[in-house]
Amino acid sequence: MHYTNKAFVRNAGVVLIILLTPPAAIALWFTSQNLDGSFVNLFEFFARNGLFQGIYKIWAPVFFGSKTAWLMISAFALFEILLLKLLPGKKVNGPTTPKGYTPEYKDNGFFAFLITLFFFWLLGFQFELFSPASIYDHFGEILGALNLFSWAFCLFLYFKGRYSPSTPDSGTSGNPLFDYYWGTDLYPHIFGINVKHFTNCRFGMMSWPLLILAFAAKQYELYGHVSNSMIVSVFLQLVYVGIFFFYESGYFKTMDIQEDRAGYYIVWGVMVWVPSVYTLTAHYLVIHPVTLSTGFSVALIVVGLLSFYSKTSMNRQRTNVRVHNGDYKIWGHKARIIRAKYTDDKGEKRESILLVDGWWRIARHFHYVGEILGALCWSLPALFFDFMPYFYVVYLTLLLFHRAQRDDVKCRAKYGKYWDEYCKIVPYKVIPGVF
Ligand code: NDP
Repeated sequence: MHYTNKAFVRNAGVVLIILLTPPAAIALWFTSQNLDGSFVNLFEFFARNGLFQGIYKIWAPVFFGSKTAWLMISAFALFEILLLKLLPGKKVNGPTTPKGYTPEYKDNGFFAFLITLFFFWLLGFQFELFSPASIYDHFGEILGALNLFSWAFCLFLYFKGRYSPSTPDSGTSGNPLFDYYWGTDLYPHIFGINVKHFTNCRFGMMSWPLLILAFAAKQYELYGHVSNSMIVSVFLQLVYVGIFFFYESGYFKTMDIQEDRAGYYIVWGVMVWVPSVYTLTAHYLVIHPVTLSTGFSVALIVVGLLSFYSKTSMNRQRTNVRVHNGDYKIWGHKARIIRAKYTDDKGEKRESILLVDGWWRIARHFHYVGEILGALCWSLPALFFDFMPYFYVVYLTLLLFHRAQRDDVKCRAKYGKYWDEYCKIVPYKVIPGVF
């Protein structure tokens, strides 16, 4: 009975997420673009039209995308696939899976990031082969098309993982609904392309800088100048995404890649939720060209950059201590570590290093604080007229606190008493003394 209840709650949660997230993404765009970025206006819109009629009115015109939107998406995707395949890069490995598969990647993310920005500038601003500002005009259709594509793609991945998996790590829960949501293949490959490398990094993350630059271009088209609030926000986000691509090979060691199978949760998330929600502050700023004082702008940039530094430095400390097999200095002294033993799925004994020093001594996911603070710094330029520019940072906070919880469960199951030992020394998950 207990199990049935648990399964029911899980399935109900999955259904709710699959049903609610697409209209939410579209409604956020609609509110930002057509309702002055105000949730109050959105509630009034639903009050006037009713919930279902309201969703229909918002979604129907963009549901199938448009020819222009499909063209833009195809051109971008094709360009990124070519960069992924053709640009040179060192071969790097992701962590070996419990079933013994070691993923291999080409480390050319930062190169691809720079080339993408260069061509966007060259073709859009220099040669004017397309209008970057028109991406804002077609953004609803773009999201509609992305949503349709992602639904179909996740279905394809579900069947592929079930009947023709790429690696031994694929699996099924026995419940097709949950499998569609969570995925079946852990490392699907299509025509030699690592699907999650493409969808998460080269599509989702790479769309982010282009979209915010397009939004800045739209503001310029509307007002004849780009406000300093837009400049601060876009600058910080560009640095953030640049750092992501600089350390792209580190991303292959994160939960998104190691834990999350290629299903709706991650694939739809990076192909629709990232372009729609992560870019929301810049999207909102298009028609809210707030002017900031110089002091405030500088303070936001300084705190934002320090936040990025702290989270990047924490990620680097973990990578380096493991690369150097524990023989590594942190903040002037030899790093304190725990050599944690565990047994993998094949029953083989393995060992890993848990760092108990530097940032990792403050809290077990202290880098989430830097992540959230950085996002707050690129949201604050919108000041406090509406909640919309803060939607991302609030969502991110919930996501990361939930993720810290998930990671704790994973690490305790993996490392057992060694994880308990680490938790005794570092008792808090994210914020010392609080959580
Ligand atoms: P973490 O970087 O927190 O990595 C968790 C893993 O690190 C654990 O599963 C464990 O893996 C290993 N680990 C845990 N404790 C230690 C320790 N003390 N010493 C060494 N290794 C340890 O995971 P995330 O994937 O959540 O985050 C990666 C980055 O991505 C972060 O900077 C985060 O801020 C960012 N992020 C951004 C998001 C966004 O939407 N903007 C969403 C999620 C993350 P193992 O099995 O290898 O031991």
